Amino acid sequence: MTLRGGIDLGGTKILAVVVNDRHRVLGEARRLTPTTGGPAGVATAMVETLREAASEGQVDPARLSGVGVGSPGVVDGRRGTVAHASNLPGWSGTFALAKALSSSLGVSVRLGNDVGVAVDAESSIGAGKGRRSMLGVWWGTGVGGGVVFDGKRWLGRGAAGEIGHMVVHRDGARCPCGRRGCLEAYAGRRAMEAEARRLKKKGRPTKLFHWMKKEGLSHLTSGLWARGVRKKDPIAVKLVSRAEAALAAGIASVVNLLDLEVVVIGGGMGSRMGFAFTERLSLAMRPHLFVPERPPLVRVAALGDLAGAVGASLLVTPTSKASRKRDALA
Ligand SMILES: [Zn+2]
Repeated sequence: MTLRGGIDLGGTKILAVVVNDRHRVLGEARRLTPTTGGPAGVATAMVETLREAASEGQVDPARLSGVGVGSPGVVDGRRGTVAHASNLPGWSGTFALAKALSSSLGVSVRLGNDVGVAVDAESSIGAGKGRRSMLGVWWGTGVGGGVVFDGKRWLGRGAAGEIGHMVVHRDGARCPCGRRGCLEAYAGRRAMEAEARRLKKKGRPTKLFHWMKKEGLSHLTSGLWARGVRKKDPIAVKLVSRAEAALAAGIASVVNLLDLEVVVIGGGMGSRMGFAFTERLSLAMRPHLFVPERPPLVRVAALGDLAGAVGASLLVTPTSKASRKRDALA
């Protein structure tokens, strides 16, 4: 049996899994991304999280065929480096992440883009399985994405899939990327929190920040936004429906251009908002679709918040160097 490891490296948390050759999760572990210690500190925490997942699955980490990592920032899979990961603490330069991890774990490590590996996982074994074309929208701190044609993600010249920076409102709200009117300026959790703070300062009633403090959290998590909608918190309802409207316009525009079969919504916000959200999104997309009688399917990511980690494990192929070496030694 081939066993693989997968690590989803996020700005707030690290999630690791150990899977078998049928992609079944044997063990999983998660911990907060350390805010001090820079890239080396993050690498150490990643190693510990993977070891924990392996121990939960009663797997010796040295037996893994390899470990895949989905990382934010500019990922160079060939060199095994990550650069400009601005949402990771102290990660402004280039860091040889694959080397750092593989020398601690003793197995080969492959890197991929965090959203890219999650989209690939949904396309090959998740909600897009069996579909010829798919748009993956990863709704979380920011809004990332990927387009899959015939089972292959379209990379363009390396930067394709940035649906979060589609312009849904000319000269609109300021996006964290510095431009104006991007989808992420309305739907990204970071931008939503900034707007929530502004509205609260203006005296609009909300319980969001009260819940945040009570739970000892430093920011408005997807869980808090979901609770806000459930409890009809005025600011949560207003900003989530604003995000929905922006997502509907952006996604429908992509569908008008590419006529894709299925849209898969993942990410922290996407998985939390769930099925009720995809239903509302489908309806909100309708008026923007050029061929409304043949809308795409809109689904929640089937792998939930494990899509990134399971997707990362797919970077380890059965023919990868590590398993060839292991087979040769066996
Ligand atoms: Zn932007």
